[in-house]
Amino acid sequence: MKKNLIIAIDGPAASGKTTTAKLVAQQLGYLHIDTGAMYRAFTLKVLREGVPLDNISEIARLASESQVELRNIEGMQRVLIDGEDVTEKVRTPEVTGAVSAVSSIPTVRAVMVREQQRLGKDGCVVLEGRDIGTVVFPNADLKVFMLAGIDARATRRRDELSMMGATVEIGQIKDDLQRRDDLDSRREVSPLRKAEDAITLDTSDLTVEKQVEIVVTKAKALMEKS
Ligand code: C5P
Repeated sequence: MKKNLIIAIDGPAASGKTTTAKLVAQQLGYLHIDTGAMYRAFTLKVLREGVPLDNISEIARLASESQVELRNIEGMQRVLIDGEDVTEKVRTPEVTGAVSAVSSIPTVRAVMVREQQRLGKDGCVVLEGRDIGTVVFPNADLKVFMLAGIDARATRRRDELSMMGATVEIGQIKDDLQRRDDLDSRREVSPLRKAEDAITLDTSDLTVEKQVEIVVTKAKALMEKS
């Protein structure tokens, strides 16, 4: 019986990955690894240092000397850059607007992927991102590709933003999501795409409980089979 699975959850922005990954990890007693938070933390550093987004060599140099960490503090996942906890600061519109450009740079990806592989190598992990099933852990035990229609995704993002005190018009949110998905899907290095052996989970009409149940049931079946 294999208990230490590697579970990969990929998909476009606001498809429900973070909520699902967090709850699946909780139910299985696994570690949740939000790889998007890592790219966001590094993007925050690039913005703070004032490096123009087209200065690829400088951003690559910065990536090689930065330390991005995920830590579990009192049951909450926190993201740190060079020792500073930036968990809340990585969710600003400025970071969201710049992250796709920064994460398209090969050296940035190499640094992040190495750290993600180190964190996940012993299993008992749920990693979420864009390239987990295709690049970070192509041999993951369970791969899920989460999808949802643009209206469902935009409504979710609007509700999340309003919980953080921000009011953003739904049309603007849709444009931002589509722009980011487009950049993430068209980049040359490890673009957003479904691994051939991933199961597709369309969450447009699913409750969070149902999404989580589907993934947990599959994971448990795999544990019993092996
Ligand atoms: O998941 P989240 O929306 O927070 O990710 C932010 C951005 O980080 C994505 O739009 C994408 O550009 C980048 N990302 C990535 N590869 C991952 C996770 C996130 O390129 N594995």
